[in-house]
Amino acid sequence: MSVSDNILNTKKSLPEDVTLVAVSKTHPEEKIMEAYNAGQRIFGESKPQELRVKYDNLPKDIEWHFIGGLQTNKVKYIAPYVSLIHSADSARLLQVIQKEAARNGRTIDVLLEIHVAREESKQGWEIAELHEYLSSGEHKNLPNVRFRGVMGMATYTDDELQIRKEFTKLRDIFKDLKARFFTTEDFDTMSMGMSGDYRIAIECGSNMVRIGSSLFGGR
Ligand SMILES: *Cc1c(COP(=O)(O)O)cnc(C)c1O
Repeated sequence: MSVSDNILNTKKSLPEDVTLVAVSKTHPEEKIMEAYNAGQRIFGESKPQELRVKYDNLPKDIEWHFIGGLQTNKVKYIAPYVSLIHSADSARLLQVIQKEAARNGRTIDVLLEIHVAREESKQGWEIAELHEYLSSGEHKNLPNVRFRGVMGMATYTDDELQIRKEFTKLRDIFKDLKARFFTTEDFDTMSMGMSGDYRIAIECGSNMVRIGSSLFGGR
């Protein structure tokens, strides 16, 4: 199957309200253009410098999402054009995103990445830590940051029940945060689900899926 067939088939299989982020990290620009020519406009990358080069070379109506671990000293590479950062996982990072967004005269959309998986290695806020941060009200002093929702990854496992449990937990956290801290309509995005688990994620309420290998092939 070609990249464009994969894009078309995947889009067809998604409910209308679910946004497809085509995760193009490590894949060459030609493959991104195949997807682009099939109508895909939202792409996800996880390395700031790689994203910078692709941004420079590819059509300007692409919406670039940043989905990987983001070091504070790298925010400046993506701040001028990134359309959504999925991986906002610390107060310090949010502060730097604020600074770089202001410097570029723009507002940057972010998702709060939340740790719901069993693996220690996964990034993201611990829920107690996030509650403490939000209760302090510090996030209200970030005028150039717009909070759009949450992102999370499930444990890498064949245990479907475990995956379902973690996505359901993330959905409950989203609803709780929306009720308590983010009452605006802007807070509307639940980014969960990758190639191996996006169907389960959608059943659990996801409205944004990040799919790489099943569109572009293995890395
Ligand atoms: C790489 C990556 C994906 C895509 O994973 P696939 O299994 O290739 O679909 C999704 N989300 C994040 C955060 C990633 O780093």
